[in-house]
Amino acid sequence: MNHSDKKNVVIIGGGPTGLGTALMLAKRGWKEITVIEKRPSADYYEPDKSFSYQIDGRGQKLTDWLNITGKIASVSVPSTDFYLTVINADGTRKITKLPIIDPDRKTAYWLPRSSFVQLLYQEIQDHWQDKIEVLFDTDC
Ligand SMILES: Cc1cc2nc3c(=O)[nH]c(=O)nc-3n(C[C@H](O)[C@H](O)[C@H](O)COP(=O)(O)OP(=O)(O)OC[C@H]3O[C@@H](n4cnc5c(N)ncnc54)[C@H](O)[C@@H]3O)c2cc1C
Repeated sequence: MNHSDKKNVVIIGGGPTGLGTALMLAKRGWKEITVIEKRPSADYYEPDKSFSYQIDGRGQKLTDWLNITGKIASVSVPSTDFYLTVINADGTRKITKLPIIDPDRKTAYWLPRSSFVQLLYQEIQDHWQDKIEVLFDTDC
């Protein structure tokens, strides 16, 4: 495809997939990318759902490429620092480190969906506003 043809993209849904796709296309030279998102904002929080993402080595292929893994680490719980607390009926607690760490794998990061989507959106705001427009509060 001719480079000048790489324009006019519409992506329905501004979750991790939609914003990640928009960023990948922009980095590959696409322009005039519009993301349509029915939620009111990137960091919209739904108290009835408990969404925590684990950004492991696979997910970090994207975040390393976008150079935002460090930002994710700064607002996440790393898999190397993951504890389980058992609270007994008498109020005493037992804290154990979960034995789920494989030292041969990259440290994974746990963070709420709203924080992850906000970080992707912030990347768009900081570097790709000329190529990507995200429309919130817009149902397709
Ligand atoms: C209850 C629940 C718990 C989960 N817990 C975990 C977990 O703990 N860890 C984990 O890694 N994964 C979890 N998942 C899976 C995770 O949510 C998905 O893998 C991930 O969100 C997929 O990202 P996505 O961007 O493809 O889709 P979504 O996150 O669903 O994003 C799609 C976006 O599209 C928007 N949209 C949809 N239709 C339209 C439309 N017609 N017009 C405009 N916008 C639209 C939505 O508002 C949404 O923002 C959970 C899923 C559910 C349902």
